[in-house]
Amino acid sequence: MNPATHSVFNQSPPLIDTNLFTSDLALVDAVRREGAAWAIANLEEFGRLVGSREAIAWGSQANEFTPVLRTHDRWGNRIDEVEFHPSWHEWMRLSVGARLHDLPWMDPRPGAHVARAALFFLASQTESGHLCPISMTYSSIPALRREPHVAAIWERRILSGQYDPRCRPATEKTGVLIGMAMTEKQGGSDVRANTTRAVSVDDREYLLTGHKWFCSAPMCDAFLVLAQAPGGLTCFLLPRWTPDGTRNRFFLQRLKNKLGNRSNASSEVEFDDAFAWRIGEEGRGVATIIEMVTHTRLDCVLGSAALMRQAMVQALHHARHRSAFGKKLLDQPLMRNVLADLALESEAATLLALRLARAFDRRQEEGPFQRIATAVAKYWICKRAPVHVGEAMECLGGNGYVEESLLPRLYREIPLNSIWEGAGNVICLDVLRAMGKEPEAVEAFRAEIRLGSDTRLDEFVRTLDADLARPEESKARRTVERMALALQASLLLRHSPSALSDAFCASRLAGDWGRAFGTLPGIELGAILSHAAPPTE
Ligand SMILES: Cc1cc2nc3c(=O)[nH]c(=O)nc-3n(C[C@H](O)[C@H](O)[C@H](O)COP(=O)(O)OP(=O)(O)OC[C@H]3O[C@@H](n4cnc5c(N)ncnc54)[C@H](O)[C@@H]3O)c2cc1C
Repeated sequence: MNPATHSVFNQSPPLIDTNLFTSDLALVDAVRREGAAWAIANLEEFGRLVGSREAIAWGSQANEFTPVLRTHDRWGNRIDEVEFHPSWHEWMRLSVGARLHDLPWMDPRPGAHVARAALFFLASQTESGHLCPISMTYSSIPALRREPHVAAIWERRILSGQYDPRCRPATEKTGVLIGMAMTEKQGGSDVRANTTRAVSVDDREYLLTGHKWFCSAPMCDAFLVLAQAPGGLTCFLLPRWTPDGTRNRFFLQRLKNKLGNRSNASSEVEFDDAFAWRIGEEGRGVATIIEMVTHTRLDCVLGSAALMRQAMVQALHHARHRSAFGKKLLDQPLMRNVLADLALESEAATLLALRLARAFDRRQEEGPFQRIATAVAKYWICKRAPVHVGEAMECLGGNGYVEESLLPRLYREIPLNSIWEGAGNVICLDVLRAMGKEPEAVEAFRAEIRLGSDTRLDEFVRTLDADLARPEESKARRTVERMALALQASLLLRHSPSALSDAFCASRLAGDWGRAFGTLPGIELGAILSHAAPPTE
């Protein structure tokens, strides 16, 4: 800087070397309450690591130096590999080492899904892209278990806790990762339209021919895929290398040029008599792979809640340090309202995400609740997040629109959670399906809402009950939105300071609110803000 031209002042300092776990009171409380108090020390350490200057730098680099497809080697042999920047591998090593990809399966004690959810929530805030293969690997295990002889071999490799980035046969590797490929050119939501064909070699082994239009993290070691077998749509595990040690006939066509999620590679792929093992019975493909989809939907919820948290913290940090018109932004009444509204939405998302994770820990007892709450939370939190992050970006003014602020990366990433693993409408229709097929799921959902006590919630539930009694397809978004709001209000009433639950009920349930963030009725904004991020952050 040339001191003769200007000096730099009134810029907020970088938000680095903060502990993303200990600074998040709602998360710490939720982890304890939802059954993972035993993981607190580990989460404290992980929160420090992922908030460190070094991890933040890896996140920026992995998104700046994006993956490159290498279809052939220098001699013209097909290799179908993707090359990543070293910073991607650092993140993968960190997350696999912390067992984000397998904790509840490796150490299935009560609260393991909650502990893993909190780890996922923390990592998402600094680098989301690498969590795609992490999430798919975590989610693959319940589906793989439908075929015990395959699970016995692959589960051991997944649970090694080692990240081995080499493209080698799984038998030679210290650890493996699993992807998923269902979507084809002609249909993603409606997988029954899949045209990839499977021909059996013997009872368990098949050859697959066809294509997949989206296949993310193609450097995974095997993929759960759907294909049409003689008995109907069937699930398979398709490895990158065949059992005889040759490259499988799995051909990467190109990488997608995506809006965000740029550190991660998403490919188009073709199979030409590619070797695969059948998972589950022929004709039961959707029922088999849905186990995987259910768990990745939990991660969509966690990922969106995490990005809301990070965007809100960045906004709050900026407002604490930046002055305009003679005051810190944080002391400007209108900015306080915007920030408090963002903080409220973020806390409601965190509480719901962690409560949902607990239902995954307690599927024996809470199966019906888990089934319907996964879809409700996936719809609503992923739907709220893009608007939320956009508003947080505006709190930083022009700086928020500039890449180094992190907000542009969050903003590009955030719509994805709403699209993949079931886009908004598809998820709402899934809620209606659950209502029709499993009335006990609606009952469990109602019972959970009733645990919160407030007259505004009672009134809201009374009108919601009318929707639940006669669900209509064209009104499904409205119904699901109201289910989510009632559940979030119930959780806030039970577990958050009254300033938050009161503001939530007044605004989101009783309608004392505008259509943009920053329109709270003005109650106890200070208490909401100090709860969102303690002064030390
Ligand atoms: C970055 C990225 C990575 C991805 N990675 C993978 C991957 O690794 N593996 C994989 O298998 N897929 C992957 N996908 C694909 C993703 O899961 C699909 O795009 C998604 O499921 C939607 O399918 P579609 O694109 O075919 O849209 P469509 O199914 O054509 O849906 C289009 C729209 O119509 C709506 N819609 C559909 N049916 C109905 C209905 N009955 N009533 C009302 N509305 C309806 C949907 O909600 C959606 O808004 C990825 C996608 C992206 C963007």
